[in-house]
Amino acid sequence: MMYKPHFGEGIPFGPSTERAKEILREEDKRLLREIANVGGMERYLQSHPEFNKDFFTKEKRCLCCMDERTAKGTLNLPGSGIMIEGEEAQEAFRQRLQEAKIEGVYSHDGCGASKLYAKEHGIDDPNKAAVDYAKDLALKLGIEYKGHLKTSGDHPGRVVYYDTTGYLNRESPIWQEKMPTGFAISRHVLNEREGMDALLLAVKIAFSEHGEGFGRFTESDPLSLIYVLAQSEERQNITEQQLQNELHKCYQTLEEEFPQIKGKIRIEGFHASVPE
Ligand SMILES: [Zn+2]
Repeated sequence: MMYKPHFGEGIPFGPSTERAKEILREEDKRLLREIANVGGMERYLQSHPEFNKDFFTKEKRCLCCMDERTAKGTLNLPGSGIMIEGEEAQEAFRQRLQEAKIEGVYSHDGCGASKLYAKEHGIDDPNKAAVDYAKDLALKLGIEYKGHLKTSGDHPGRVVYYDTTGYLNRESPIWQEKMPTGFAISRHVLNEREGMDALLLAVKIAFSEHGEGFGRFTESDPLSLIYVLAQSEERQNITEQQLQNELHKCYQTLEEEFPQIKGKIRIEGFHASVPE
């Protein structure tokens, strides 16, 4: 498996004090149990239609890391796409970003994806690799480089949002209060293999955080993989079945490699009434 040698590396982000970590961890567990109790994410959102206008936005169509502590922009990928290897793949990727009407690109410090990229390419400074990549991408797309964000502490994410809408507004304070903290991957600007690589990386980071190893998630408090689809069918170029298959494949791949993961991942999805 592609990222196997790096599994287990802790990557510093997120809440920086033990108390802050504990509060966020307990609140996210509580929210996820509440969501499970009402019958899942789809039901939870249907019962709170007032969240809708805050949760999805056509503004802020910027690309940023999937990292849950940056929570910037509505297009999100590991290291803003730094791990998509090869000029041809990057070109196809840029095309999809243009179709998604991208407006800007961020990088951030301590980026896990950039660390892996720098290591694989013999670059000493992962921060420089992150900035150089994001600036170059912005230049090639003719859009703004929005800057290098600061992040701190551990990864608190208990969810990976696998989005196909491009409108997830994790920046919204209502989102931050009412949705469990999580990584976000914009599947619609990737091909299937790139989507799988991003998923595997997010899940591995989530499981390797806090030095708790596999104990961080349990059968009663699992890691959630949540696909997001637009409500209106004409907006979908990837089917619900396809997304479910990809998430199950991710789980199976990891379970084969790490049997301890068995039963500690929940898969679900929801439909979003995204802005027209
Ligand atoms: Zn990152």
